[in-house]
Amino acid sequence: MNKVLVLGAGQLARMMDLAATPLNLETKAFDVRIDKVVHPLANEHTYGDLAQGIANCDVITAEFEHISHDVLAECDASNKLFPSSEAIKIGGDRRLEKALLESCQVANAKHKIIETRHDFDAAIEYLQLPIIFKSALEGYDGKGQWRLKEMSQADAIWADMQAFVEGAKTSVPQGIVAEQMVPFEREVSIVGARSRNGEIAVYPITENHHTNGVLSVSLAMPVSEKLQKQAFEVFEKLTRKLDYVGVLAIEFFQVGEQLLVNEIAPRVHNSGHWTQQGCDTCQFENHMRAITGMPLGNTQLIRPTAMVNILGEDKVDDAVLAIPGVAMHWYNKEKRAGRKMGHINVCGNTEQELADKLSRLATLLDPQAFEDLADFADMLQNRVNPK
Ligand code: ATP
Ligand code: MG
Repeated sequence: MNKVLVLGAGQLARMMDLAATPLNLETKAFDVRIDKVVHPLANEHTYGDLAQGIANCDVITAEFEHISHDVLAECDASNKLFPSSEAIKIGGDRRLEKALLESCQVANAKHKIIETRHDFDAAIEYLQLPIIFKSALEGYDGKGQWRLKEMSQADAIWADMQAFVEGAKTSVPQGIVAEQMVPFEREVSIVGARSRNGEIAVYPITENHHTNGVLSVSLAMPVSEKLQKQAFEVFEKLTRKLDYVGVLAIEFFQVGEQLLVNEIAPRVHNSGHWTQQGCDTCQFENHMRAITGMPLGNTQLIRPTAMVNILGEDKVDDAVLAIPGVAMHWYNKEKRAGRKMGHINVCGNTEQELADKLSRLATLLDPQAFEDLADFADMLQNRVNPK
């Protein structure tokens, strides 16, 4: 079993391939935009269509959850798809995701599914303002969201959402989920792998910071055992329910000592990129191990590590590489405003060392392109070394 086909040909497929090659696994990627199987590193080479890709591989997996149900059905029929099409569909539809959370009795934000104006008004009554409305399908990086803070905005937001739902070209009907705005202290996520025989290995929970709705920095440092245990229990419940195989990420809001699930991603996740330098076995390798039936690798934090996303930039000053413990990961993508172009992992032997390296990094990077990094570094300095 050494040939893997990844649905999707973006940076996650690329990093799966980079981690899989030393395991003697051969990776191809199905580019859904051109309906062709390509090499995950050199996208121009094509290896035929989906049917050929399925016939020529041992295992199929996915780098994203917004995959057409026709493609999933074709993969399902081969019995090679891990995680299952059910898990992928749930991750791609907030209505199904909420139903899963409820069925597993996992704490999450109060919510209502909205179809009519009557539902919309009832949701406002039930949830109370402020409310966040999210598209059921195809939401990512904060896209497809509306925030209702005052009643005076209600008619305009409803009209906008209605037009959005009616204009949707999705294979399954688009819809809206209303959620109570959670007054969280911070956002964290857990990334972990479950193998074919049910073995689980999770990474330490990671603290996530967003800039303009997009993940900008993830921070992995030693965490409270209590929180880690809570996150692990949710991971275990959900993956067992889905008989999940592969890496799964769960995003949480932390309110006091409680974790509320925000959403799940049935795949390797941006908030797990730090594992490339912060762990013996990164999330990409563990995903490939899990789906091909190999034992899982060590997921312990070996040193405090942060990941900084490179958004909309295709160059950074080479001087950043002179900082010990800095690793660059470019995705070979065409430059576009706000696009995830690469990331920088930074490791320190201690939390203080990590904070110092982030401060140094912030002075070398364009403050406009990395607008919150200097503040983030200052925040970490204060946390590590309170005045
Ligand atoms: P991503 O692709 O970055 O995960 P997404 O489009 O899937 O984003 P969410 O993760 O649901 O969307 O929301 C994006 C961000 O908006 C969250 O990380 C959080 O900061 C904020 N947010 C979402 N839902 C809520 C909520 N119920 N209460 C408060 N803030 C929220
Ligand atoms: Mg999210």
